[in-house]
Amino acid sequence: MKRKIIVPLVVLIFSLAVFLSGNFTLSQGGKNADKVTPLYWKGNLHTHSLWSDGNDYPDMIADWYKTHGYQFLALTEHNLLAEGEKWVAPKKAEGNRGKALEKYMNRFGPTWVEKKMVDGKEMVRLKTLAECKKLHEEQGKFLFVPAEEITHKFAKFPIHMNALNVNKAIKPVDGSGIRETMTVNLRNLEEQSKKSGSTTVGFLNHPNFQQSIPAEEIAMCSEVRFFEVHNGHSGVRNYGGDSFPSCEKIWDVALALRLGKLKMPLVYGLATDDSHDYHDIGLGKTNPGRGWVMVRSRQLDPESLMQAMHKGDFYSSTGVVLEDVNSQDGELVIKIKSEPGVSYRTEFITTFADASLDGTTVVDKDGKPVVVTKNYAGKIGVIAKDSSEAIARYKFTGRELYVRAKVVSSKLHPNPYQKGDFETAWTQPVVPPTK
Ligand SMILES: [Zn+2]
Ligand SMILES: [Zn+2]
Repeated sequence: MKRKIIVPLVVLIFSLAVFLSGNFTLSQGGKNADKVTPLYWKGNLHTHSLWSDGNDYPDMIADWYKTHGYQFLALTEHNLLAEGEKWVAPKKAEGNRGKALEKYMNRFGPTWVEKKMVDGKEMVRLKTLAECKKLHEEQGKFLFVPAEEITHKFAKFPIHMNALNVNKAIKPVDGSGIRETMTVNLRNLEEQSKKSGSTTVGFLNHPNFQQSIPAEEIAMCSEVRFFEVHNGHSGVRNYGGDSFPSCEKIWDVALALRLGKLKMPLVYGLATDDSHDYHDIGLGKTNPGRGWVMVRSRQLDPESLMQAMHKGDFYSSTGVVLEDVNSQDGELVIKIKSEPGVSYRTEFITTFADASLDGTTVVDKDGKPVVVTKNYAGKIGVIAKDSSEAIARYKFTGRELYVRAKVVSSKLHPNPYQKGDFETAWTQPVVPPTK
């Protein structure tokens, strides 16, 4: 009798010890992988290092993210992967008060940092992605997603797209228009995915950088399934300008057109750092820590993360933490992880099916058409409900084309994209079930 009790007790104590010992190998996979509860993993999917125009060493940058609560990182250099041999002069990495090499030496020491003299000039070898992985990756704790920023343009429109989970750099190719430039490059990514068998994600970056990519072009380009709704780079005009709307408005117009007119799938929104500056911190600098994604999956590996993103099982944030986002049983429910002394306002944003989707072309002072998002008199992207509860709920009426939530906290971002930005989270849009 006693023995019968002891055995289950031993099993129970052992299980408890395993559970308490750390991450419960939640990401380890194996035959019990489908039984573990999916977790939100924090990651930045837009980062530049000295391999392109960032001003720090890739292993130093990864060290920053790893020690600041991130579980994954994509180094997204312009049109290349961090592979092969590359040496740089430390000067390039100095910033104003950078002392990048000194910091690098202090952190990793002379046995890791490789230096040589070339024509009397000191050069430092950049560690490859493979070397960075070896140094920093830890199962269930930190991961690199191999990636690249496909950096191209059409006419004066910069067209940059991040390609995630790639095994080979994708060279940008020309298209005959804005939409076609997005199409041909994102198709090349899809081609690679088909060949490699790996799930990839491609997303359109900073639609308002330099020129504003019209929402209609995004809506009609079926290859665009993801875009940046918030990019931390100070030059990307997230909030729009005189003749063009904010990235959030672009999102709503694209969603309304796709679901109300074009019968095309949702577009998901990402927050990223697009970090370049790692030494001078503050407004006007493009620092790490401004925006990220929280992807929900059972395992921390590139394939699981990419699959979760395709399902829309992630949210974007500049500080607000969500415990759960759920759209079952006829309602969208957002559970906020509240911080003491901080209040939250959740806006449920939608476009109703009866909203007019007719837009008028924007013209300049001479009456010439301007290539920007059209003006819409209809109610596109309206707040259908707001809530100050920690668990915010929206009951679908069946009249919405889509519903998404934006949670704005009363806490100012410590190092924002723009002065006065409050910490925010954006959930992915969902299509309400039809009655
Ligand atoms: Zn870019
Ligand atoms: Zn970039």
